[in-house]
Amino acid sequence: MSYFQVNEKCNGCLACVQNCPARALDFRDEGESRALLHNMARCARCLTCWRICPQGAVEFQHLLENRWDEVVTLKLIRCRVCGQPVFTDGLPGALDEKLVDLAEPLCPRHRARHQAGRQTP
Ligand code: SF4
Ligand code: SF4
Repeated sequence: MSYFQVNEKCNGCLACVQNCPARALDFRDEGESRALLHNMARCARCLTCWRICPQGAVEFQHLLENRWDEVVTLKLIRCRVCGQPVFTDGLPGALDEKLVDLAEPLCPRHRARHQAGRQTP
């Protein structure tokens, strides 16, 4: 979803493009169409476009929705004793060989017990 969005009131006047201090807005006239373009890497999030648009067409409300976007979902590995989540399945393969003991699916409490049991003569 683009950070810069316009609603159906946009009439293509280009006031936003002409007044964007970061030159993050541009347009392309092609055939029968005019496209508004936005460059996120340049955008300073200053909202000048929102303030200046004579149509009230620039929308930033979607940024205030307090919504969490799911970025990635990984397979969860749980403690083999109590079921508490301990890490995800990509982690053990990324561990240095000195830390290979940490790949054991144990929560801190059961890891401590496991290690104490190994140390008992
Ligand atoms: S200033 Fe508003 S109406 Fe004009 S092109 Fe930009 S978004 Fe559309
Ligand atoms: S928020 Fe500011 S920098 Fe970003 S597009 Fe609008 S006017 Fe340009």
